Order: sequence, then C-alpha cells, then structure tokens
Amino acid sequence: MLTERLQKELEQTYAKGLRRTVDGLRFKTAVRAEDENGKEYLVFASNNYLGLTHAPEVQRAAAEAVRWGTGSTGSRLTTGAAFETGELEKELAEFKHTESALVFNTGYMTNLGVLFALVKTGDVVFSDELNHASIIDGCRIARAHVAVYKHNDMQDLERLLKETPAAGERFIVTDGVFSMDGDIANLPELVRLKEKYGACLMVDDAHGVGVIGADGSGTAAYYNMLGTIDLQVGTLSKALAAEGGYVAASKTIIEYLINKSRPFIFSTALPACVTAAALAALRLLRQKPEQYVGRLKENAALMRRLLHDEGFEIIEGVTPIVPVLTGSSKKTMRFMAALLEAGIMVSGIRPPTVPEGTSRLRVTVTAAHTEAEIKQAAKTMGRIWRELNV
Ligand SMILES: *Cc1c(COP(=O)(O)O)cnc(C)c1O
Repeated sequence: MLTERLQKELEQTYAKGLRRTVDGLRFKTAVRAEDENGKEYLVFASNNYLGLTHAPEVQRAAAEAVRWGTGSTGSRLTTGAAFETGELEKELAEFKHTESALVFNTGYMTNLGVLFALVKTGDVVFSDELNHASIIDGCRIARAHVAVYKHNDMQDLERLLKETPAAGERFIVTDGVFSMDGDIANLPELVRLKEKYGACLMVDDAHGVGVIGADGSGTAAYYNMLGTIDLQVGTLSKALAAEGGYVAASKTIIEYLINKSRPFIFSTALPACVTAAALAALRLLRQKPEQYVGRLKENAALMRRLLHDEGFEIIEGVTPIVPVLTGSSKKTMRFMAALLEAGIMVSGIRPPTVPEGTSRLRVTVTAAHTEAEIKQAAKTMGRIWRELNV
C-alpha cells in the first residue's frame, strides 16, 4: 500500500521533470572535484566560500583532534562536550560580539532548536518570504503563529507588525544574505522596526559569515551595527569549512537553550575533529580577514562583471551568490547539463524553489578560485549559452 502510494507520488514528480538524485563527488581541491566516473569539474556551486575545507591548517586541526575519538559518544549534556567545541563557542561569541554562543549539529537544527525552544503560544513570528527552509520548519515545529512579509519589503513588515496582535513576544526572523538571490537583509530598517514594535530580531547569517563585513563576521558588521541583533544564527558548514551550526546571543538566551532546546539536548554532539576544523577555519578568518574576505569580494566582483559582459542577465549585488537568469526550467536544465559536459559545475534552480519564469543558474564564487578559473568559467558559460540560443 505505502509503496504504491509513494511510487505514484514519485511518478508525478518525475513527470514534471523534477527528479532529484544523489551523485557522488570527491573534492580534490577546494574548487576541483571528480565524479564516480573520474570526470573532473571546476566547481562554482559549493558554499565553500573561503576554500578552507582544504587549507592545511584546517585539515591538520581535524586530523589531530581525531585522537580524541571519531565520534563524540553522547549529547553535550552527558559525555559529548569536547573541549574544542567549548573553545569554538567562546571564539564565535567574540567574533559575533555577543556574550555567548552555542553549537548545534547543523545550521538546520540550530533554527529548529532555537525557534522550537523560544517561540510560545501567543507569540508571533514575522518571517521574510524567502527565508531558508530551516526557519520555516522551525516555525512549524514550534507551532508558531507566522506572519510572512514580502521579500525584504520593510513597508510590508511594518504593515504586518501593526495589524497582527501578539499576546506574547514578537520575533522578526530573516536570512542575512539570501541564499537564492544573494541579496542582503535591510538591517537598519529591521532594527528600527524591532525597536519601534518591541520585537526580538533573529538573523540567519549562514551565507553572511566569511562573506560580508570587513572582518567577515556577517550582516551586523556589514552595516556597522554591532550589538543590534538579538539572535545571530550561523553554520559551520559554509565559510567555516566543517559541519554544524551555532547561535550567538545573550547569556540568558544561551543558558535557556542549553536547558530547554530539544534538538540540542537529544542529539549526539559533534565530535572534536569536526569542531576543531571549524575553530581552525575561524582563526584563519580572524587572523587575515582582508586576505580571505577581500579575495572573495574581488572574485565575486570579477565574476559578476564577466558574466554581465557575456550578455547575461544577473541579479545585481555584492555577494558571491550570482544568480544568472535563464528563463524556463527546461532551458535552465539544458544549460546546466551542457556546462557539466564542459567540466563546469553550477546549480540549476527552478520552481518551486524560485517563482515560475525566474529559473536560474546559481553561480557561487569562492576565495580559492583563481582569476584564470573565473575567466574560463564565464567564457564557457557565454559560449554555451549562445550555442543554445541559435
Ligand atoms: C545552509 C543554510 C542553513 C543550514 O545550515 P546547515 O549547516 O547546512 O544545516 C540554514 N540557514 C541558511 C540561511 C542556510 O543557507
């Protein structure tokens, strides 16, 4: 019975051309990978923004910490509290200019764990329509009353804040850098509104850390507005080159999460080798922000300029997430496949992830790409796009 039901649903998905598959990939460097047939790709699709997954210092830190076991053996509250994880939390709090920070197993679980624990009946969550799935799911398991505002539309947010009564607390929740459009939340307005309406502001900087702000610490630093965000969520799995998530906030909030957040309490903690890698990556970033963040910014600007020169319509911005608009879903997938054939890996994004007619290639640049590699990719994209369009 179940099998038949699942088969039927899968067939409907396939008929829409939306089949998803898992394809093995091995990164030989931060930007070059090979598939299981040995074909090599230059990758412009990963979240490895600073290329630190292959930095010798980071790999060495992970290898050394394997001495303390390949697994953590328990929840943080029992036997899983590796020293490295505690040190990482201390340095994350410094980096984010907060009193405290707490590591979760993934960024996804962080949003679940924070929203589930903090949002109670009678509270209202005001959420940007383009927020990450983990924020949406966090609101769901919290059974929160959610008011969704138009993307980065502060007038719409204010309208909702005025119209929606809340018996309890109000939370405004947003991505810092939006993962599909690569644009940045309007922090000055968010802070004004949070103050005016007595709300608590939560910003998910998964794509912001290592990417924006002179020191790479994310949205607050980008706007020179340190200390204005109540909860700063992030991930260890993008610029910080490892695996895991965290939230940086006040002592009271962190203490509350340690005691009340089920995803924190009831899951085995990350092992020392994973958090040691993130800690080593964070230290490299803090020691040489201009080298890493500066380089990433230059590479992003170069890719944006070259793709523009090739005649592509891109969504303007300053981040290394470069959305190249390609129209129909079918054409986007053909373009992506032709690029793969040519050894360039980018992501094809189509509905329902983005609205109908705005399918795109999502090109992500890292600090580890060379100028020559960026030029090669832009040129290949231009050539193949013209061939597809004759
Ligand atoms: C990637 C991402 C997450 C999830 O982080 P993981 O560590 O991959 O689970 C959460 N929020 C945003 C905005 C993200 O881009």
